[in-house]
Amino acid sequence: PVQYLPGKEPHAREKRLIFKNIDRVGYNPSIECYLENGGYEQLKKAFTMERSAITNEVKASGLRGRGGAGFPTGVKWGFIPPTNTKPVYLICNADESEPGTFKDRYIMHQDPHQLIEGMTIACFAVGAKLSYIYVREEFPYAAKILEKAIAEAHEKGFLGKNILGSGFDCEIYVHRGAGAYICGEETGLIESLEGKRPYPRIKPPYFPAALGLYMSPTIVNNVESLCHVKHIIEMGGAEYAKLGTPNNTGTRILCVSGDVQKPGYYEVEVGKVTMGEVINDLCGGLKPGRKLKAIIPGGSSSKVLRADEKYKLRDGREIGIMDIPMDFDTMAQCGTMAGSGGVIIMDDSRSMTWVINNLNAFYAHESCGQCTPCREGSLWMKKISDRIVGGDASPDDVDTLETVANQIEGKTICAFGEAASWPTQSFIKKFRDELKSDCKPDLTGKIVNEETLVA
Ligand code: NAD
Ligand code: SF4
Repeated sequence: PVQYLPGKEPHAREKRLIFKNIDRVGYNPSIECYLENGGYEQLKKAFTMERSAITNEVKASGLRGRGGAGFPTGVKWGFIPPTNTKPVYLICNADESEPGTFKDRYIMHQDPHQLIEGMTIACFAVGAKLSYIYVREEFPYAAKILEKAIAEAHEKGFLGKNILGSGFDCEIYVHRGAGAYICGEETGLIESLEGKRPYPRIKPPYFPAALGLYMSPTIVNNVESLCHVKHIIEMGGAEYAKLGTPNNTGTRILCVSGDVQKPGYYEVEVGKVTMGEVINDLCGGLKPGRKLKAIIPGGSSSKVLRADEKYKLRDGREIGIMDIPMDFDTMAQCGTMAGSGGVIIMDDSRSMTWVINNLNAFYAHESCGQCTPCREGSLWMKKISDRIVGGDASPDDVDTLETVANQIEGKTICAFGEAASWPTQSFIKKFRDELKSDCKPDLTGKIVNEETLVA
């Protein structure tokens, strides 16, 4: 039987595909261990299939990108122009930098061959002979582990020329970033890989699938998404699609942080658990004596949800925050997004002023500076929220902050503009009174003068 490290055992509500081997007793990142556990069998199976059949299985699986946007992976692969004379590239986006998100790091650290197998299958399907894993600078161990794993896969004939006698050649290279959040934006990543400053490109009209790396067709997929490919080949697309809920299939890894008893990672069927079950079952509830105040459900760029709000769904139902299923579509109906799976829980001891100031500092630091509304606006949002959190704000500073955020959204080259403005807009909309109050946080974001808060 599979055993896990003490305290790391999967919860009964989990369904582990991708994280099956994470924190498992006796499991290590070596190729020997991977092979002993059925590794590279799906690559062998993929070589018996037509390339188009692999893409069709991924389409049938309904897999949606786990980087955050939830775009259907098989559909994306299908955008590779059928007749093109340029090389096709596959890039694994391992620049996991969205605050609150920490799943891809576990995969790269503990099960790198799962990623390499998924990537090689994907390369075969889309006809990419060259592939890159773009690893963020802050993951030096992941880069080293992946380089070792790639060398092992080469040695055993799972990479390189004429892989397993299939006639298919494929190389994977690790490329390390230099510490910029914007390199996770796929076109910024591509510019960086080309050796340039990572200024995102305007899209539409040209998405990477048509014009990407070196202006050639390029598929950019997240680490977790590429790992799912192996399981889709093993199970078959239709069987995989039975996991989760319609249009929100499969499993996904939730990264839960903040004010809960057991923060951590949880792999669940998409849409089969609610927010309340995440907090109370998976994470063991809130801290003693505390009440839920707010949740950022899908990484820092998603809009905050307030604990006492009601959400009207398309089918007419009205649900509370604890009843929201953790899936892409319902989150969108609740005015936010499931994003990268980073769920940040905040209880009533937490200062919303501090949170928004913390987020604004992050976005001001990470703006690439290419477009004015984002470059200037993110800095002003930080400056104004510095004043608010420091108790030096003028009476209309909160309104000014909102105006600045509104001037960024929809006026920038890349989605960073929305990512930077949505938190501020949503926190002001939902916590305006607190932001305007005399309520003060300590350095860790805890409110020090609770009596100033109007209930
Ligand atoms: P997007 O919706 O613009 O694109 C999603 C993917 O689909 C891209 O690969 C894009 O090329 C492709 N695509 C979309 N429309 C297409 C078309 N018509 N033709 C061809 N391809 C098409 O979203 P995005 O800007 O890539 O990503 C935004 C998301 O990234 C956010 O929702 C956020 O959650 C997430 N994010 C994640 C992290 C992280 O660390 N995982 C960091 C920052 C942001
Ligand atoms: Fe750069 Fe911000 Fe413009 Fe994106 S929106 S291109 S991060 S300045």
